[in-house]
Amino acid sequence: MFLELTEHLKCPGDHREEYLVVATGAMKERAIVFGTIGCPVCKAEFLVVNRVARFGEPEISAASGALPLGAEAVQALLGLASPGGFVVLVGSGAALAGELAGLMEGVHFVGINAPESIVAAPFLSLLVGRSVIPLKEAMARGVVIGAEHATEPWLAEGARVLLRGQRLVVLSEAVPPAGIEEMVVGQGTWVGRKP
Ligand SMILES: [Zn+2]
Repeated sequence: MFLELTEHLKCPGDHREEYLVVATGAMKERAIVFGTIGCPVCKAEFLVVNRVARFGEPEISAASGALPLGAEAVQALLGLASPGGFVVLVGSGAALAGELAGLMEGVHFVGINAPESIVAAPFLSLLVGRSVIPLKEAMARGVVIGAEHATEPWLAEGARVLLRGQRLVVLSEAVPPAGIEEMVVGQGTWVGRKP
């Protein structure tokens, strides 16, 4: 997990957002390889193991296999023209990280419950959670949700972590999350904007 992501982490516990306390055991460049993450509110403790921050056991596994759109199309739908910030990729959406990183310089990707085959990289942090995206509200410049995660609570969680004015891309023509304005739907994809 990328060290700079630390300030955007959120405890999955049902309480106010508070900065989590990270104790790094092993670092490589700016990534935490092993460490612990503590919540000052509920005292829960989470582990970073082999670069993956584990906030709970996922209820659904990320699907592997073909996505309805490729990285270039997803990049265009996200509509990000400038570098910097974070883009969150949920479930099978994380399979796009490598190609998106090649197209979107200076953006850091955060994979949530990514497929087993996806490994952390300098451009990609991996987080695992049960039913909460362990990130603070309004921190992401874009969110992409894989088809198998196109249900609640993941749609609402994607909408929560998204910044206002930015886009949510769902790789399924699912029922969209509340509070996101529809922009485009078709070809197995739903795209909306957070007002
Ligand atoms: Zn907590």
